[in-house]
Amino acid sequence: MNMSNTITKGKVVGFSYHLKNSQGATLDQSEEPLLYLHGEGNIIPGLEKELEGLKDGDSKQVKVSPEEAYGTYDENLVFQVPKTELPPEADLEIGMEFQTDTANGRMVLYLQEIRENDVVLNGNHPLAGETLHFDVTIKTIRDATAEEIAHGHVHGPGGHHHH
Ligand SMILES: [Zn+2]
Repeated sequence: MNMSNTITKGKVVGFSYHLKNSQGATLDQSEEPLLYLHGEGNIIPGLEKELEGLKDGDSKQVKVSPEEAYGTYDENLVFQVPKTELPPEADLEIGMEFQTDTANGRMVLYLQEIRENDVVLNGNHPLAGETLHFDVTIKTIRDATAEEIAHGHVHGPGGHHHH
């Protein structure tokens, strides 16, 4: 059996996808194949697990629970913040992200609502609480380079370009 084009830890995988919520509404769709390094937590755990063992050209429907995607929705992560506590140069726009350092590490807050004197910031990921339905097609599978393995992510076209 030829394992070279099977998704296992240490493979760089390119896949296209169509993502819908439980109501069937499209949440996201890839134009170009998304590249990731399998086995390194580059993508949500529920999806990575289901892609294990697939081959080049395979298609699969994958349903991912919130627990294995972007988490369950937590009411305690919704904060009302006076505008005076925000960076004065911030050009407020619904959906913009703020980063804040907490005891549990860095946290991203999304601007949910703008009021007269304060704003509502939400620490839940926009897809928190959603069961995700993916239609995935595997486009490419290759061995990762030693450097990619060492970094834990993909380099080159479609990968990270941070260095
Ligand atoms: Zn790198």
